[in-house]
Amino acid sequence: MKILVTVKRVVDYNVKIRVKADGSGVELANVKMSMNPFDEISVEEALRLKEAGKADEVVVVSVGPAKAEETLRTALAMGADRAILVETDDQVEPLTVAKIVKGVAEAEQPGLIIVGKQAIDDDSNQTGQMLSALLGWAQGTFASKVEIGDGKATVTREVDGGLQTIDIKLPAVVTTDLRLNEPRYASLPNIMKAKKKPLDKKTPADFGVDTTARLKVLKTEEPEGRKAGIKVKSVAELVEKLKTEAGVL
Ligand code: AMP
Repeated sequence: MKILVTVKRVVDYNVKIRVKADGSGVELANVKMSMNPFDEISVEEALRLKEAGKADEVVVVSVGPAKAEETLRTALAMGADRAILVETDDQVEPLTVAKIVKGVAEAEQPGLIIVGKQAIDDDSNQTGQMLSALLGWAQGTFASKVEIGDGKATVTREVDGGLQTIDIKLPAVVTTDLRLNEPRYASLPNIMKAKKKPLDKKTPADFGVDTTARLKVLKTEEPEGRKAGIKVKSVAELVEKLKTEAGVL
């Protein structure tokens, strides 16, 4: 079975985000970019399934600017076999990505597509669900455990009340949650080897997808600064303040 994994290049999670002066978005110039953390978990899961003999090839795909090649090389250094870069300088929305990945899936015919639960830049949490709908495949979202059986996957999902376990028919789309695994680091020799691994370049037009934005950002604002806390002398005073000042009791 072939596993297709989507990886997005996003602002590194350690970077303190700054809003552009004109409010049109966040500052991306000279900012460290990395693989979306949920996608590192997806790559790790695909590699573990391959190591367990459940898959024979791991293909990673990214939709984005030429620099997204670095993100794909990171996935190759972790152990993925092959990469596909669908190059565009447009800001792509979840539906656009889902349409493109559908095209990639039709060409590659994977048995499983692993998608991150959400991208930490747009926090949409939409791409995996839209992809499964477009393909007409089953979906197992927010996975904290994935087991591959005969023509099916058993997915343990993180839901509000605890954990839910479902069986889904393959081919399917699985989206990854934080507790699924701890991604490995790429070793230096593997980073060197990754430079020679195959990376195909495509464009959205190759999949008949128009990347024109459907959504318009009206404004972007910094969140309100956190107010200073106060110290109380007793539980009674705390309860009093929660009642009268905070209005939460
Ligand atoms: P979102 O729906 O934007 O929160 O993204 C959820 C997941 O979809 C991410 O974790 C990625 O796995 C995938 N994804 C979103 N945008 C892209 C992109 N431009 N290229 C590759 N994968 C993407």
